[in-house]
Amino acid sequence: MKGFAMLKIGETGWIEKDRPKCGPMDAICKPLALSPCTSDVHTVWEGAIGDRHNMILGHEGCGEVVEVGALVKDFKPGDKVLVPAITPDWNSLEAQAGYSMHSGGMLAGWKFSNFKDGVFGEFFHVNDADGNLAHLPDGVEVQYAPMLSDMVPTGFHGAELADVQYGDSVLVIGIGPVGLMSVAGANLRGASKLYAVGSRPACIEAAKFYGATDIINYKNGPIDKQILDLTHGKGVDKVIIAGGTVDTFDEAVKSLKAGGKIGNVNYLGEGTYIKIPRAEWGVGMGHKQINGGLMPGGRLRMEKLGSLVACGKLDLSKLITHKFNGFENVEKALMLMKDKPADLIKPVVII
Ligand code: NDP
Ligand code: ZN
Repeated sequence: MKGFAMLKIGETGWIEKDRPKCGPMDAICKPLALSPCTSDVHTVWEGAIGDRHNMILGHEGCGEVVEVGALVKDFKPGDKVLVPAITPDWNSLEAQAGYSMHSGGMLAGWKFSNFKDGVFGEFFHVNDADGNLAHLPDGVEVQYAPMLSDMVPTGFHGAELADVQYGDSVLVIGIGPVGLMSVAGANLRGASKLYAVGSRPACIEAAKFYGATDIINYKNGPIDKQILDLTHGKGVDKVIIAGGTVDTFDEAVKSLKAGGKIGNVNYLGEGTYIKIPRAEWGVGMGHKQINGGLMPGGRLRMEKLGSLVACGKLDLSKLITHKFNGFENVEKALMLMKDKPADLIKPVVII
């Protein structure tokens, strides 16, 4: 089969591979729609998780089941399915401890385009099919389904990590597709003031659609200075980080009230240390929590998030700015993600 792969750090290309084999609990799917991710860009061009050779890329897609193992109960060939980017081993001790995304080791629930071939192949393998696939709900268009693999669950996890509560003032740093879903997630969880940080007009418009009440441009000076101005020196209750760099934590901590919480879902592709400002962290005693997490994967979460879309409470149409038809266009879509033209939020490829 054909797949679009990372050949080595900094290099991508089309390769031929054997079709993946199906274990007793697994499924083999063919893609129906695919989307590239900023994480693929960190992985290939920043080498952020180390070198990978001839590994098929991609972890955002929806598919059709073509084969299932003998022990799979709830899925059969022909089923259209949502596929999470994170596919934990549900019988692992880490999953039993509540950290499914780290099943088998830190971040090891993230298998596609990390430890194994991703979804940018003519076929892809899904471990633990009953635990990780979800039926594509009626009312969710195939073109939007790849947004449920990663953008929605990751953005929403940012709101969970920051522990957004009714009435909280929330700062969302970064309004690419992940941050936009953090805005939507924080809004659904009852945020009051929702400050969104970005500079591109397309993202700003979408952020307002998803519930942002105020926009901050990080190019106009430090975010914390702008937040303190807007909040009369008080700061915000919660911060979600979905963009920026290792230095963004400095601004996040300074923007936060004592007792506040930061939820980070940004993939830090560069730098050795994260800086926490001593004085604004209450000289170590400010009760400002910093939680960073990979989104939990799995079927239940896919079903629940899918139902938010199916019942009309979450409109994913504002995330997609570029549409392609045909498998061969995953290459173009990934290059768009790398080059990030100003009007891009997210591309999708319909197969
Ligand atoms: P984008 O690149 O599309 O968006 C990044 C956002 O951050 C933009 O709004 C950008 O503003 C803003 N930004 C850039 N620099 C700064 C800065 N110095 N300070 C503040 N804001 C800044 O990324 P995505 O939305 O696709 O992804 C966001 C991150 O989430 C990525 O690192 C991605 O790898 C990661 N991720 C993490 C996952 C997880 O499970 N934890 C899963 C999927 C993705 P603008 O462009 O408007 O100027
Ligand atoms: Zn992704």
